[in-house]
Amino acid sequence: MSKHRKIRLGMIGGGLNSFIGIVHRIAAYMGEEYTLIGGAFDSNYESALEFANKLELDPARTYPNIDTFIEKELALPENERIEAVVVVTPNFLHYPMAKQLIQAGFHVICEKPVTNTAAEAIELEELVHKHKVVFTLTHTYTGYPMVRQMKTMIAQGALGKIQKVDAQYYQGWINPVIHDKDKRATVWRLDPAKAGQSCCMGDIGVHAFNMIEYTTGLKTLKVLADVDTLYEDNPLDIDGTAMCKFDNGAKGLVRASQIATAEENNLRIAVYGTKASLKWEQENPNYLYFLQEGQPLQVLKPGHEYNGDLAKISTKMAPGHPEGIFDSMANIYLGTARAIRGEAYLEGAFPTIRDGVRGMKFIEAVLASAGNGNVWTEIVD
Ligand code: NAD
Repeated sequence: MSKHRKIRLGMIGGGLNSFIGIVHRIAAYMGEEYTLIGGAFDSNYESALEFANKLELDPARTYPNIDTFIEKELALPENERIEAVVVVTPNFLHYPMAKQLIQAGFHVICEKPVTNTAAEAIELEELVHKHKVVFTLTHTYTGYPMVRQMKTMIAQGALGKIQKVDAQYYQGWINPVIHDKDKRATVWRLDPAKAGQSCCMGDIGVHAFNMIEYTTGLKTLKVLADVDTLYEDNPLDIDGTAMCKFDNGAKGLVRASQIATAEENNLRIAVYGTKASLKWEQENPNYLYFLQEGQPLQVLKPGHEYNGDLAKISTKMAPGHPEGIFDSMANIYLGTARAIRGEAYLEGAFPTIRDGVRGMKFIEAVLASAGNGNVWTEIVD
């Protein structure tokens, strides 16, 4: 038996009061594959040190910024140096930080949207290939066992030919913010300097888009979209709908909103085929609904033998123990660990920079379509 060695992990952002940092840290630990060693956890160094203290991390490996992080880590012997770095900062920092990290030879686990522009995402894709590093994009929902089962069943032809897809991501949290100018100013997601070109489509619409391409394997060729900012002095979209045409001739919808009053995290996808259909929703992630003409509804669940390999390796507990958001992210970290170690992994084990390029092209096509008077706009790859 060879000695197991955990991957030395670093983190940029994700500090004390961050929203999604905790999900990454727990996910990284769940599979016994990573140890968090250090990072530049916060825009405020004092807060970063306080955070490191709370986690009992070595303050010497807690850096004031990414430049110092890279400089000091590269100066360490290779067998001590951090190997993979998670980027969990607001959107505008993903591209410059990921670029620096890739060029310095670190594997990168990055939050979405991967960059501010498609051109930046393409550049990162080229750098990932050039520097031969692993790049994971944390489209968290692709880690759920039943989303993975959906992917497997569709690939096996369980639905026949896909003829309609409907992905929806509705939240309501911007409703109490958007009608109050002072509150608006406190939300970085509404600030183009920090969020990038889009709020709603960039923050959540891109998850729904990714779910379609991940589960169905279809490629979106064109979109016809409409987006809404609600107020003239609010620069970014907070609601949007995109009709999509796919490379098998089917059509579908990406519907996203952050002003769907009182909705929580209502991401759902339905894929309708000539033989059967599948439906899944994030707020009840352990149920995958399999609908067949003239047959009673079947509900598939994690942990059962009837699931395919991708769902099986993504399930830790016996049937009846719910798998949630932490487990989903952990499955992405597990696939990433295999890739970092140079081990074989199943297709779909984690989203990559390719998903990032596709997502950014989708966001730009949606905004172009809406901006040009709701016209069909190609996503050229
Ligand atoms: P947040 O504002 O809660 O946290 C951002 C963190 O980044 C904070 O700790 C902040 O101090 C730190 N930070 C800011 N500038 C920094 C710098 N220059 N150097 C180091 N640290 C810095 O944001 P959030 O809601 O956690 O979102 C972070 C990212 O994660 C966003 O890109 C968002 O789109 C993404 N996200 C993804 C999911 C998902 O499901 N995959 C969910 C939520 C958020």
